[in-house]
Amino acid sequence: MPRRKKAKEASRGLAAADLAAGSPSAPAGQLRVEIERDGGSVLAVFRDPLGSHWQLLAALPIDRVEPTPFQRDLSDAHVKRLTNVIDNLGRFLDPIIAVRKKDGGYWTPNGHHRLSAMKRLGARSIVALVLPETEIAYKILPARVRRGADQPAPFSTRGQSVLRRNAREDDCFREEIQAGVGQSRPARPRFRTTRRMREEIGGDSMRLVPRFAAAAALALVVFSSTGARAAGPRLDLSAAKIVDLTHPFDEKTIYWPNSPSTFKLTKLSDGQSEAGFYYRMNSFCAPEHGGTHLDAPSHFARYGRTADQIPLSQLVAPGVVLDVTKPAAADADYRLTATDVRDWEKKHGAIPSGAIVLLRTGWGKRWPDRKRYLGDDTPGEVSRLHFPSYGKDSAELLVRERRVAALGVDTASIDYGPSKDFIVHQVANGANVPGLENVANLEEVPETGAWIVALPMKIAGGSGGPLRIIALVP
Ligand SMILES: [Zn+2]
Repeated sequence: MPRRKKAKEASRGLAAADLAAGSPSAPAGQLRVEIERDGGSVLAVFRDPLGSHWQLLAALPIDRVEPTPFQRDLSDAHVKRLTNVIDNLGRFLDPIIAVRKKDGGYWTPNGHHRLSAMKRLGARSIVALVLPETEIAYKILPARVRRGADQPAPFSTRGQSVLRRNAREDDCFREEIQAGVGQSRPARPRFRTTRRMREEIGGDSMRLVPRFAAAAALALVVFSSTGARAAGPRLDLSAAKIVDLTHPFDEKTIYWPNSPSTFKLTKLSDGQSEAGFYYRMNSFCAPEHGGTHLDAPSHFARYGRTADQIPLSQLVAPGVVLDVTKPAAADADYRLTATDVRDWEKKHGAIPSGAIVLLRTGWGKRWPDRKRYLGDDTPGEVSRLHFPSYGKDSAELLVRERRVAALGVDTASIDYGPSKDFIVHQVANGANVPGLENVANLEEVPETGAWIVALPMKIAGGSGGPLRIIALVP
């Protein structure tokens, strides 16, 4: 087999921070919707580091998953071994690869044994790397395992013919496929652990783990742009000061000048009931975006998370306050720069990933004076707005490199007033980072040390919604 040219070091593919940045491809977005509809759950959408293809990490209902028909026959001995390893570990670490069939079932080209082991263990779901390109199923082969003389050939007869056919159709994979079919080279242990590997994983626990599982753990790929809880300052809840960062919703609540409606409270009942008790109830009606509110990623990203899908770990997190009160007082169109962020970091250290960033501009004190808050109060007119917010370079730094949980601001938008392209919305929402707008009372939140609780109304499918946001200040 001719050797492939060795890639130049660090010259290809994506930097780690870029894997989950940007908007997923349309097929990946579509697949996300289908997986959720099939009863699965999408854990992450990200690009592969080499070819930048969008793919999904998802939990699938196990009975919807089956091996591709051309897969090798099951080795009972191997399934038993694998079942024991997984059972002993008490965890499933090595996601299988899967593609979705039109009928809502899933095919795995490489997970026959792991799938069987999990089914034997009674698992209800399995974690898979789901690829939008179904033809991949013909291109990925199950890795070889050691095969004893009494064990079946690596592929069923039917499988061999399917693979040969596909090999003819795809030059690129011909060699691997032909090498895999009917191969007769001496069996080799699949994995060997070296001392280096043991050191890197942690020597003591490694000794207890069978070779196979250890290597499987090494091969484990888990990406989550948002799932992990940020490490934050310790907080004694019983001693914390609670600050309300929410403007009330009433007839003065500020909406975008071209909003078709505003907040409306309608009295449905207010008085003594016939049964003798007092009874009051209202209905309310409001656009999602206005007042203190959340911008869900789906606001500016076709396949972004909706209000109900945002992980709580992105809404309850350590808070970081960046202050631009001074430059904003001199220039109402001031935009936070990447340099401002780096200057802040010189004083306080790097902004931790998973933090909720709140931009303090001083504009919160202008609420609810529409003219001073938005820069213009002409009804329906959106071209004369002036207020400060984030700039593109600071948003990219915070979202893509610092991996923050959310961007908040005490003005009407995470883009500054004159913005026409809403680039900060695009950057943040495109990476599944929500926005928090019209945040109140940021003067009372320290630059570091507080925790932020920003819980929006859980509107299913919502692009945003009214938000109750508070700070817990030590
Ligand atoms: Zn909004």
